[in-house]
Amino acid sequence: MKGKGRNRAVKSLEIYVRKLAQANDIKPEMAAHIFHLIYEETPNGGISDDDLESLTGYKQSDIRRILRLLGDKRIIVSRKGRHPRKEATRYFWRIDSDTINVSLLTLKKKVLEKLVVKEAHDSGNSYYACPRCGSKYSFDEAFTLDFTCPRCGEVLEEADSREGLERLRRTIDALREEIARDESRIYRS
Ligand SMILES: [Zn+2]
Repeated sequence: MKGKGRNRAVKSLEIYVRKLAQANDIKPEMAAHIFHLIYEETPNGGISDDDLESLTGYKQSDIRRILRLLGDKRIIVSRKGRHPRKEATRYFWRIDSDTINVSLLTLKKKVLEKLVVKEAHDSGNSYYACPRCGSKYSFDEAFTLDFTCPRCGEVLEEADSREGLERLRRTIDALREEIARDESRIYRS
């Protein structure tokens, strides 16, 4: 879940940014817009508050409040640099890559949780099927029917869900390993 997962991580960060803005009396739309512009310019070394101002037309004081807010929460970080056109020192803002990685890790953990629940559910639920008509019955139903299909009189067979379950377990193992790798990379100290 590389590209897709990253997009989802950015989306969930954006939701967080909007909530943060709302709680601080800043227009959520404005904060989300600034966040996206910074995100887009991050691979290019970031974007200055001047550029944000001319791109958006927002008031400088609003932009600075948003930058301070996102900076306090370590969503963005800045570096000092020379502006390519203006002869002055500027701060260039970019998304903190650790923040994106942590957000992505949180998403992976949520997916893992759901898969584990599904695995527990699937492995505890064997069912019986008729080999002729394909009707399915729970264990209790099959027991009551004496393991015989009421429609065709065929003996019911325990349905083989092992293959699907195996596939699910392999996915869970792979995701667990991925999360462990991510964690050791992000939290190494
Ligand atoms: Zn049948």
